[in-house]
Parts: sequence; structure tokens; C-alpha cells
Amino acid sequence: MKIKCEVINDLLPLYVDDVLSKESRELVEEHICECESCKKTLENMSGKVSLPVSPELRMDDTKPIKGLKKFMTKWKRLTAAVIVLAVIAVLFLSGMYASTKLIKIPYDGHNFTVELRDDRYCIVYHGSGSFGYSADGNTNTGEWNVEFYTTLLDKITDPVKPALRSLFNIKDYDYIPLCDRGDMTRLTTRSGKVIWEADEDGIKEFEDKHINNATG
Ligand SMILES: [Zn+2]
Repeated sequence: MKIKCEVINDLLPLYVDDVLSKESRELVEEHICECESCKKTLENMSGKVSLPVSPELRMDDTKPIKGLKKFMTKWKRLTAAVIVLAVIAVLFLSGMYASTKLIKIPYDGHNFTVELRDDRYCIVYHGSGSFGYSADGNTNTGEWNVEFYTTLLDKITDPVKPALRSLFNIKDYDYIPLCDRGDMTRLTTRSGKVIWEADEDGIKEFEDKHINNATG
């Protein structure tokens, strides 16, 4: 029993570092179950990150190797921690990039329309996912031009979005107000494709609001 305890004591640091073979491991565990003294030693060891080296161990020939193993284990843990942090940083930065990187949505003749909602002209998107736009309007003519965007993140997550939306009960907005009623006569893309034109009433509304007011 005495000799065995010493053997176990030699093995315990390796046991704590989890570098023992299956057989040695079982040997240690069997012994720990029956030996209160070794159990205590183990409990003292596993509670600490760096272990004080006993005089016997210091004289032990295998000590430098054990020290190296322990150092390697620590170094591995540190490396793992750094890798995990790096992965988190990369994910975070990619997320930031993807959610701010804009991608143009081309107008195909059907995917965007203009509708009056709550007395405002709104751009309605008939594609999937969310969208944004940048627009310029001429208050003298009521002619507006527009360009549509989505984000890289929206584009990437588009295939799984229906599932996400139902899971988190998210509603994608499918329209965005552009201007008030009577402020627009025509909406084209930046390249000149006509998306919408005001009818007679719409033109009259524009003239009443912008031309007749300004001259009269
Ligand atoms: Zn023992």
C-alpha cells in the first residue's frame, strides 16, 4: 500500500492534467476510492491551477518532462482561449460588415411599386427580405429618382429568414414612406427606368401644393 501511494502521487499531476493512459487513469481512480490520503492530495491538487512541487518530485528524474507537459497543457489552454477570442472577434466583425455592406437591388419592372398609404407615397417591395433606398427629389418638377439596397447580411440570411421570422415572430417591413402626397409626379431609377408616374389627380395635387402656392 505504501509503495503504491508513492506511485499514485507521481501519477496525480498527470492525472490532473488529463494526460494519463486509460489504464493508468483507472489505476489512479481505483486507488483514490480506497485511499483517503491520496484522495486528499488529489483534492488539493485539482483545486489549483499551478501546483506546488513537492521535494520528492523535485528530485524525481522525470520532473523536467512533467514540467514540460504541464507547461504544454497550460500553453494549449492559452492557445485555445486566444483562438476562441479570435473566432468571436472575427464573427463579430463579419457580422458588423455584413449588416452594413450595402448591395443594390436592381429594379426589374415588378419588384418595387409606389402606393399611397396614410397620405404618403410609399415604396413597396415585393421581393423577400428587408430593403432600403436612397432617393433624390426635385421640388420644382416633382421628379424623384431612387436606388434600392439590401444589406449583405439580409442577402446571406434570406434563405433561412422565413424560419427565423416565424421563430422570433419578426415581421419584415415591406414598404417605406418616400414623401408626402402631392410631393411627387414621377419616380425613376437612377438609370432612368420609370417606376411610377402620377395620374391627373396626382399632378393636380402637386401643382396645387408646389406651383400655385409658390406663384400665388
Ligand atoms: Zn494512497
